[in-house]
Amino acid sequence: MTRDRAEDGPTRTTIVVPTVGRESLQTLLESLAAQSTRVTAPVLLVDDRPGGHDLGPPARLRELPFDATVLTSGGRGPAAARNLGWRHARTPWVSFLDDDVLPGPTWYADLLEDLAASGPEVVGSQGHVQVPLPTDRRPDDWERSTAGLQGAPWITADLSYRRSALASVGGFDERFPRAYREDVDLGLRVTASTGRIDWGRRQVLHPVRPADGWVSVRRQVGNVDDALMRRLHGRDWRVRGHAPRGRLRLHSVTAAAGVTALVATLAGRRRAAAVAGLGWAALTAQFAVARVRPGPRHAAEVVRMTLTSVVIPFAAVTYAVRGRVRHRRAGPWCGAPDLVLLDRDGTIVHDVPYNTDPEAVRAMSGARESLDRLRHNGIRVGVVTNQSGVGRGMISPEELDAVNARVRELLGPFDVWCECVHAPEEGCACRKPEPGLVLEACARMDVEPRRTVVVGDIAGDVAAARAAGARGVLVPTGATRRDEVARAAVVRSDLGSVVDDLLGGRW
Ligand SMILES: [Mg+2]
Repeated sequence: MTRDRAEDGPTRTTIVVPTVGRESLQTLLESLAAQSTRVTAPVLLVDDRPGGHDLGPPARLRELPFDATVLTSGGRGPAAARNLGWRHARTPWVSFLDDDVLPGPTWYADLLEDLAASGPEVVGSQGHVQVPLPTDRRPDDWERSTAGLQGAPWITADLSYRRSALASVGGFDERFPRAYREDVDLGLRVTASTGRIDWGRRQVLHPVRPADGWVSVRRQVGNVDDALMRRLHGRDWRVRGHAPRGRLRLHSVTAAAGVTALVATLAGRRRAAAVAGLGWAALTAQFAVARVRPGPRHAAEVVRMTLTSVVIPFAAVTYAVRGRVRHRRAGPWCGAPDLVLLDRDGTIVHDVPYNTDPEAVRAMSGARESLDRLRHNGIRVGVVTNQSGVGRGMISPEELDAVNARVRELLGPFDVWCECVHAPEEGCACRKPEPGLVLEACARMDVEPRRTVVVGDIAGDVAAARAAGARGVLVPTGATRRDEVARAAVVRSDLGSVVDDLLGGRW
């Protein structure tokens, strides 16, 4: 496919940049502004600072020669920030780009070509990450560690996914709270269930960030995430996830020898203490030498490597144990649903039987706030409602429209609105508990029914969900029969707690 054709197509992708407001963001935005091909994709900047709302003067964003929007995710980590971004995207592809990479001038043109060249079996397209290293000396430990990003598959610094693939697996697992392993976890789930991830031709530079001498110790917190990977993907996750083997087993032996030496010393067991102490010293020395040898070998680096090599085995084992305990019962990631369909009467507005009067419409308590929380998270919302009053001749189509308009006025816009106006005796396929309305809403939104939740106040709503292959949640009112509540699989007391569950991936 030629470059021109790739450029001329409809908007293929949305660029999602998760950020914590670092300086590098401005450089990234400047390089996107200076692309050889003008960026026509919407750009979503997800501000992930706790309580962060200000990424600089708004004028700066307005001056950009592309459509940039800022979303706030409240400091919940890069996985949650990226999820917020892709859920708001309405393009077939979503292109994740980290705020600390530097795209070259043809990056966007190359991206469009990469996506255009991806057949239907390709669900991910990965950019090449280059880490510039010093040319006048050997790279130090931190620089070598960053350079590990080069050639590592599935890293999200520059990775585009089909939105449908992300939706199918529920996006990034938000139990990974830092930029570590969340991308490999997603790569494993996506390639296992939806399709292939190919290398594209585009490239970005990933400069080595400045770091202090203890960064290698702090990074041991990643062992918590490794424990979650092992729990979710089995012992061989590193092989399947193309991750280096790591040193945890040797660290465990080293830490055990160190602790044994200490305990034996305190107990007055001098020979045991000497043997364990020698073992600990030998393993620690071997570790330090292995880290010093490939590096610049100047005094400061040797001291840094020696000190951190003493601490790292203990830190690694502590975090690994913490991870095993924290994630001992972790199950597969579900993520938030892609579409939430709500019954109208008795669920989002008070039930006024055969209402023809817009003035009589009253929102259920907390309904607006619950719907807005879903909208803020990029989750589409819709209404599926039986209005047999029309078929029975008790409500005119105009009266129904006027009441529905009042519902939207009170509760905000809905992405999809499906109603059945048939009388029960007409035997239609859409009147709940039949699945027709739910299936129609899913089809119009291009969402799989299994990624859809239906919320209603009677058994018919839940039954329609089940018949369509969606999940149903019952939120009973005073009018809901007891046997309906008893038979429903999922019952919640109000819409707010339903939304808490959905956003927490519990559904
Ligand atoms: Mg109802």
